[in-house]
Amino acid sequence: MKLEGEVALVTGAGKGGRGIGQAIALALAREGAKIAVASFSVESGVALAEQVRQAGGEAVSYQVDVSDAVQVDRMVADILSRYGRLDVLVNNAGITRDTLLLRMTEEQWDAVLDINLKGAFLCTRAAARQMLRQKKGRVINITSILGVTGNAGQANYSASKAGMIGFTKAVAREMASRNITVNAVAPGYIETAMTAGLGKQIEKEVLQRVPLGRLGQPEDVAGLVLFLCLPEASYITGQVIHVDGGMAM
Ligand code: NDP
Repeated sequence: MKLEGEVALVTGAGKGGRGIGQAIALALAREGAKIAVASFSVESGVALAEQVRQAGGEAVSYQVDVSDAVQVDRMVADILSRYGRLDVLVNNAGITRDTLLLRMTEEQWDAVLDINLKGAFLCTRAAARQMLRQKKGRVINITSILGVTGNAGQANYSASKAGMIGFTKAVAREMASRNITVNAVAPGYIETAMTAGLGKQIEKEVLQRVPLGRLGQPEDVAGLVLFLCLPEASYITGQVIHVDGGMAM
């Protein structure tokens, strides 16, 4: 078990069995990491923590809004009082509020930027205090290929994900001398609750643009996140790595 003794916080780890955060939490737990899961609703985090425990792992769940600094700081303080350390942070919580630019309300813009981008900032700031003390840490930001390519109808989402990429590179430079790596993982189209509502027609169109000829699964993303947490990845920082079947080359 390559993460034995380590503690990982995964945000946005919920959503009834199909989320990317859930697959990441389970992959890290299988390598022996103790897992803290943060989700917006109580039930989804509790269910996932229970799933980790049933598989023989150790997990705790938090109902937290990642865009609220007080809640985030309280959660990280609780993780530290419980486990005494924090080695891995995966900023995975994210939402969409898709619509064309001229129809986009300020609320739709703010909600997406607050949760996707500010949430990553708040969680990283809280975790980094401890990682700096430990002189060891891995931060992995789940961005999107849309943060690189953009997408019509998703100006708010694309901006938030592009912001995460700039954030990743700046923090990677800031933290590098203290043995903390910061990387971004950019998924393409992954079959989860987030994409389930887009419909079969969109799915078909997307599929035509995926050279590997299939849609992605949460486990495809989790495999890369796990690798970035391992000693083998200790010389990788400030990178944006796509997991998209070749969609955005
Ligand atoms: P889901 O909608 O399945 O899961 C999103 C998770 O974020 C849920 O667990 C949800 O909690 C949580 N969440 C939402 N708002 C908050 C909040 N304010 N505070 C804390 N947690 C919150 O999405 P995916 O698994 O598909 O996506 C995970 C990440 O991957 C997102 O950042 C997304 O942008 C990114 N991504 C996804 C792609 C895809 O094709 N699916 C492609 C590229 C990137 P709850 O369970 O309680 O609702």
